[in-house]
Amino acid sequence: MALIDISMLDPARTVVVATGNAHKLTEIEAILGQVMEGFRFVALGDLGDFADPVEDGETFYDNALIKAQAALDETGLAMAVADDSGLCVDALGGDPGIHSARWAGEHGNDAANNEKLLMQMADVPDAERTARFHSTVVLVSRDEDGEEILAGNGDCEGTIAHDLRGTNGFGYDPLFDLADIPGKRMAELVPEEKNAISHRRRALDDLVAKLGA
Ligand code: IMP
Repeated sequence: MALIDISMLDPARTVVVATGNAHKLTEIEAILGQVMEGFRFVALGDLGDFADPVEDGETFYDNALIKAQAALDETGLAMAVADDSGLCVDALGGDPGIHSARWAGEHGNDAANNEKLLMQMADVPDAERTARFHSTVVLVSRDEDGEEILAGNGDCEGTIAHDLRGTNGFGYDPLFDLADIPGKRMAELVPEEKNAISHRRRALDDLVAKLGA
């Protein structure tokens, strides 16, 4: 797809979404667009081939902020949204947490990450297999006076299963038994169902509430 020319965008009315994932762009646009009428949301990846920033923060918030600020530095635009998310398992002290994407070493190797998690949880009894997906979304606005940062947080509760089930979604979805829908794995939901209850959805709703306040 042809790149969008940054110089043709109205900086006062454009929000750059720091993701290369088209589904995230659609979801973020649909939800934030409710309270940011007249804004155009563009994916960072549609503006150029920018290097990913080093996500060396200690929290989801830190890493979301690193991504949003890098998007502003790279594009020169004035507003950016970014999210950072992961799976937090109580029996593992909150791990894999911010390390979720590369839990087994290689970035984004879902099969290896799930296998490692299953091994780590092999001896954990059912009552102690509680976990949650967490998402932090930040909206950063820059002007000559500095930066304004708004953050939203969302969780989706569940437990870690003993095997993989379901073919939808990504990441740890096949191992995640939903607290909200007993008997269902996250990977058994169609996208519309997942988007209605996901940690990202809840973080965006939290951000929307703060924007509207
Ligand atoms: P990101 O911050 O959205 O890129 O997510 C980082 C990592 O967390 C992903 O690579 C997945 O391993 C995990 N993760 C985040 N959100 C989800 C989800 O909705 N389902 C399954 N895994 C997720």
